[in-house]
Amino acid sequence: MQPKYDVPAPCICYQCGNCCRNYFPQIHRDDLPAIAELLKKTQEAVEAILDVTAGAYHSGAPEDCCFLDPDSRKCLIHEIKPESCLLFPLGTRFGAGKVDCRGYGELKRFTEQFPEEDRKFADVFEPEFGGKGIRYIPEGEWPGLLSKAAKANVSPEFLKELLFLNGLTGA
Ligand code: SF4
Ligand code: SF4
Repeated sequence: MQPKYDVPAPCICYQCGNCCRNYFPQIHRDDLPAIAELLKKTQEAVEAILDVTAGAYHSGAPEDCCFLDPDSRKCLIHEIKPESCLLFPLGTRFGAGKVDCRGYGELKRFTEQFPEEDRKFADVFEPEFGGKGIRYIPEGEWPGLLSKAAKANVSPEFLKELLFLNGLTGA
């Protein structure tokens, strides 16, 4: 019988900015007015700091994303950041990039508490796991969920989100 996997585990962004270094997400033209409004600049001023490659806007070179505040290391457009930033590290070459992502490390430590044969892999992470990624843990492991979280030394934020995602608590 096909095992049922339906326990989602979170990958929390702690806004450390590590993935914004040497990374230039594509910016959609439709997003420019909202970015300009948020930054209190004209649309032309925003366009001027973007790099246009192959007809698409990118958030600039040479090293850090131009929307990464150099002092606070926070994203200046966090509320409306591009989809590729929202999804990070899903679908990115995370392993190859060697990005020190606290949220991903926590997710990895947590899922590693489950026997490999009980994990369900999706093809969203690459290539660190050889094209496989860890997204779900088996329903049968519910009783040990909290002790596994403790062993993985996850943050209170992770634990709260884990419980919330699985309908075990309110907001
Ligand atoms: S490296 Fe991870 S925790 Fe840091 S900003 Fe990127 S996604 Fe968030
Ligand atoms: S838009 Fe924001 S989240 Fe995306 S790479 Fe730039 S600074 Fe980071």
